[in-house]
Amino acid sequence: MNEPFYPIDVAEQFGFEKKKSNPEHCCFCNKELNHLTANDARPVSDGKCCTCCNIKIVVPVRIRELKEAT
Ligand SMILES: [Zn+2]
Repeated sequence: MNEPFYPIDVAEQFGFEKKKSNPEHCCFCNKELNHLTANDARPVSDGKCCTCCNIKIVVPVRIRELKEAT
């Protein structure tokens, strides 16, 4: 299934990422990500996650790991 082509500024107005063959999705909730919402999900996952899951899932794990490392 081919995506219709939109000029980039129009695509951005509708919230689509700039022309990209494989848009990234949150590895936790599967929400589509763009350059503003994509967060590194490590160490929980090797993928990318949305800001919401980053705060709810990844940040607490990072804080815990920092505490355990000291
Ligand atoms: Zn998410």
